[in-house]
Amino acid sequence: MTFFPMIPFIIVLGISFYFFSSTLDKSTQASLERILTDHRKMIESFLLERKSDLELITRAYTFQDIMAEGAIGTICHSLQERSAAFVDLGLFDETGNHLKYSGSFALAGKRYTQEPWFQKTMLRGFYISDIFLGYRNIPHFVVAVRRTENNKTWVLRATIDTVFFDSMVSGVRMGKTGEAYILNHEGVAQTARRSGDIALLDKDPAFGWMQNQFSANQQTFQLSPKGQPFLYAVSKLANKSWYLVVRQEKHDVYRALYSAVLICVGIAISGLAALVVLAYFTSETICRRMERLDEEKEQLGSQLIRAVQLAEIGEMAAGFAHEINNPLQIIKSEYALIKILMEELYPGKDTVPDPQTFNDIRESVDQIHKQVERCHEITSAILKFGRKKEVKHTTLDPGTVIPEILKLVENSARTSGVEILTRIEENVPSFMGDPGRFQQVMLNLVNNAMHAVTNQHGAQGGRIEISAAQTRDNEGQTMVNIQVKDNGCGIAPEHMDKIFSPFFTTKAVGKGTGLGLSVCFGIIESFGGTMSVDSRPGEGTVFSIQLAAHENQSS
Ligand code: ADP
Repeated sequence: MTFFPMIPFIIVLGISFYFFSSTLDKSTQASLERILTDHRKMIESFLLERKSDLELITRAYTFQDIMAEGAIGTICHSLQERSAAFVDLGLFDETGNHLKYSGSFALAGKRYTQEPWFQKTMLRGFYISDIFLGYRNIPHFVVAVRRTENNKTWVLRATIDTVFFDSMVSGVRMGKTGEAYILNHEGVAQTARRSGDIALLDKDPAFGWMQNQFSANQQTFQLSPKGQPFLYAVSKLANKSWYLVVRQEKHDVYRALYSAVLICVGIAISGLAALVVLAYFTSETICRRMERLDEEKEQLGSQLIRAVQLAEIGEMAAGFAHEINNPLQIIKSEYALIKILMEELYPGKDTVPDPQTFNDIRESVDQIHKQVERCHEITSAILKFGRKKEVKHTTLDPGTVIPEILKLVENSARTSGVEILTRIEENVPSFMGDPGRFQQVMLNLVNNAMHAVTNQHGAQGGRIEISAAQTRDNEGQTMVNIQVKDNGCGIAPEHMDKIFSPFFTTKAVGKGTGLGLSVCFGIIESFGGTMSVDSRPGEGTVFSIQLAAHENQSS
């Protein structure tokens, strides 16, 4: 009751989990990619704008204009008004001399000929550097533009506020652990991580794996730096060899899934518990009801057996009356004899009693005593059969119980002209059963047989053979086979399969109940045995009872 309902329950749970997690996977990946693209575009346009700002200045102002006293400060100020990201501004000649500077560091007059950013600007005409320390010894990056006018080359350079840039890059909100940061082509952090485990200019230890995934065209993937699984999305910036990395702890991504799983498991466990409790109480109730039904069935069975037993007594009553009548007739004639002898004994006062008369009287009294004993035997046998007894299974020895039972029908068989033969093998083993009920079965079979033989042969020629033998069943177990065989009228083939059904009778109304054989069948079944019939119409019938031999007796 608990196991089978659980199967669809678990299947539904598994399927829902699978679809829910795969949908969540796809949607998480899509949202990570969307955030990455949006953020990348924003950073790219920020850098492009800063480059355009500087290019605008180099076109709007000549070298001389910027060299004019106070001009660089004004230009720097107007740049800062366009974007708060600008920190300072410097003008350089083609040899890298810092000619003019507007800003808070003492950098004017310094020489930048050997600085990588200066060399790359001179080479490419435009350059956005990586984060470096420079003369000011503070992490920063620069945007520089080269300009050539009237055969004179100069460079304008602006420093970008790293705090501003950092907050712009890391300003991504995804769950509790979502963060975005930039790494250069060597994996060195260009912005700090919001989680704080990698500072500016630190190398990301996961960069090698990240690059492998990235070069395998995987924009989103899973990595577990320090054993903690993270979902990563990485993209290269268009105008710089920087990688924008967006990542979130997997546990954080699947928080919704984990809580859904937790709720489902909670519901499943409570459902299961409810199911178990329900199953327990339901099966308890069913068991109790079945037990009650069994008891009622048992009671009804016993009542039926008793009813059949009484009917049997009724049927046998005539036989018993005859049985008792015989001794009573003898007693009556003995009484008459005694009376005559007594009168003979005292014909007159002076007569001497004849000793022979005494002897005759004694013989008659003995005969009366014998006949009374006989009556007593018969009535106690009837009482034994008819009395309501408690059913008690004991070992029954066919050699003892069968002759005892047959004593009850011997006389009536004799008076009906039926010959009863008994053939009980010496080694026949005992079996388990209730003596009263076994007696009922045997009496029923013998009475039916007597009925059949007198039907067929009248008052002469009827023969009933009762045998008990040891046999073996198909599995080699020792069995007791008891047979009641008669040479009666037999059973018509069309009646054969109804013979053990309750209320089936071919006897006249009031003569038979049709319950005898069905009750016998039930009794033998309750002994753990089987009962079968074989019959030829006009020739006779054999009823066979197969019972397991009692262990101690079995050979
Ligand atoms: P009842 O004896 O009251 O009819 P049973 O159940 O004992 O009920 O028997 C059912 C029927 O089986 C009998 O009416 C009879 O037709 C048939 N039957 C039983 N035993 C024999 C037998 N030995 N020979 C022929 N018919 C039999």
